[in-house]
Amino acid sequence: MNFLRLLLINFCTLFSFFSVVLRNDIWHDIPVAHRSYNPHRRSFTSSRFIPVTLIGICSLCITLVFGSGVLVSDPNIVHSKRLPPPSSEGRLFGHFRYEEARKDQLTTIAPGIELRSAAATMFEVMKRDAEREGVNLQILSGFRSTNLQHSIFFDIKANRNQTAYERAKVSAPPGYSEHATGFAIDIGDGNDPDSNFSKSFENTLAFEWLQINANRYSFTLSFPPNNSQRIAYEPWHWRFEGSVEALEIFAPTRS
Ligand SMILES: [Zn+2]
Repeated sequence: MNFLRLLLINFCTLFSFFSVVLRNDIWHDIPVAHRSYNPHRRSFTSSRFIPVTLIGICSLCITLVFGSGVLVSDPNIVHSKRLPPPSSEGRLFGHFRYEEARKDQLTTIAPGIELRSAAATMFEVMKRDAEREGVNLQILSGFRSTNLQHSIFFDIKANRNQTAYERAKVSAPPGYSEHATGFAIDIGDGNDPDSNFSKSFENTLAFEWLQINANRYSFTLSFPPNNSQRIAYEPWHWRFEGSVEALEIFAPTRS
């Protein structure tokens, strides 16, 4: 369709140009003796010039209208102003690559557990509100360095005699964990610690409360059942998306 438009534009542009030239050619084709008006004072009332002039003007109008249409609708031009679309490049076993949070971006929320400041503040608000309703949210894990993730992935993989693919179903390879961002958090039910890091967490009051209320605090379940990343369902693993930075970091997971 755009090709036809461009063809039409070229045609109209050329026609506009030649119509002007044609005016002069017609003018000079008429013998001076037959000219009924002063040749040095061109008249726009000539019966031969008017149609050519009108066609030229119409051609220019068509060129402008369709030309602007192409400029607006050309997908290459519009897309060049957008951010590049999310890409699946760089994924490993379904996991996206994440930069490790800097030390100065983290704050301690519990002994040995750090989170990004915004996520930590909001989790504390959420925890307090849950407690008012008799629900005991416990933070089990927050930021993890790439080195720690390395041992969690490879050491446990070795202990369980798993392949990397099997291990990646339940744990991200180092450099590919949401925990490295400082925005991800593992939550347990303080009244049911046996369900920590277990699928049975979905049967706890804490999980039920989170499902209903977590979005109010900008926490979302990273790996729900049948997620697009094909990572095993993790009812305990949530991530904070209450800042533009966090939204940008996790945007590729929505592709
Ligand atoms: Zn987790």
